[in-house]
Amino acid sequence: GEFIVQVAGEKPYHIVTPAMHKSKEDIATLFNEKFNTPENASPQYLTNFVREFLRKEFQRADLGISGANFLIADKGAISITENEGNALLSTSFPRVHIAISGIEKLLPKMTDLGLMLPLLATNGTGQFISAYNTMISGPKKEIDMDGPKKVYLILLDNGRTDLFNKPHLNLSLACIRCGACLNVCPIYQNIGGYTYEVPYTGPIGSIISPHYEGFEEFNHLSFACTLCGKCTEVCPVKIPLTDMLLYNRDLAVRTTKTNKIWDIGINIMTSFLLSRKKMDKFNGYFKNILVSRLLKNKIGRKKTMPLFSKTSFSKSIKTNQNDK
Ligand code: SF4
Repeated sequence: GEFIVQVAGEKPYHIVTPAMHKSKEDIATLFNEKFNTPENASPQYLTNFVREFLRKEFQRADLGISGANFLIADKGAISITENEGNALLSTSFPRVHIAISGIEKLLPKMTDLGLMLPLLATNGTGQFISAYNTMISGPKKEIDMDGPKKVYLILLDNGRTDLFNKPHLNLSLACIRCGACLNVCPIYQNIGGYTYEVPYTGPIGSIISPHYEGFEEFNHLSFACTLCGKCTEVCPVKIPLTDMLLYNRDLAVRTTKTNKIWDIGINIMTSFLLSRKKMDKFNGYFKNILVSRLLKNKIGRKKTMPLFSKTSFSKSIKTNQNDK
């Protein structure tokens, strides 16, 4: 998946399956344009082509860069789990391996992997366990047949310590990046990964990204949520995602500067929403005229504007009840 989006000049669309937005036909066309493979090449053909192509790249590379799924404190080891083998090759062929990992990936003991690896595989891709699970605890030793001569681990903070110090949000650091919350999110399903414009997308991305990338610029992501609660229901590490989204919204309202016109507009709207009498003045007749004028040239000649009910919802309910 990573290779496909790189060839296309794109960024990953999903944190687990980076090329999920592309069909097999899209990929065949892309590879035909870039590598002159047959126009309607099958997935099997393209997989073999990529294996051969990348194998040479792995053999030639002086340096391999990887992430880490978990860091194991008691063994000083890096755990990488994957299905393609690309991480295994880029950490074992080159002479130097650099692993880059967020500080929140640390687990106390090697035995914790007995829980975490199946948890990640089951919730990420529906497997009992991923195909390749690699443990790296340092450079190649004399008895080893292969492996890098040097291994570096770069620990990234990038706002994680600040997040840890926020009691309402620090559980978000328990995320194992399985992607389950993205898969069930109706917003993610409709707008897709690119709309977020940040590396971490979906519900968990909407919570942590404003704190990593700049709260003022990205707090709108926390408002892109219907609060349906599906993400909280499926999260394998029980992160209260909807509570955190609400916390971010509250923080945004309390801390973000607004302009005068916006404040006046909100005050007028609030006074209407709090008064049934005022709401009834802004009734269906008025809305039909206003909306049809505003959208007159936008919906095209072949569509007719749906009409607002002339009576309010509460009045209709009361009338219906009286009729019974
Ligand atoms: S928040 Fe939970 S469901 Fe979403 S990616 Fe992280 S661990 Fe998976």
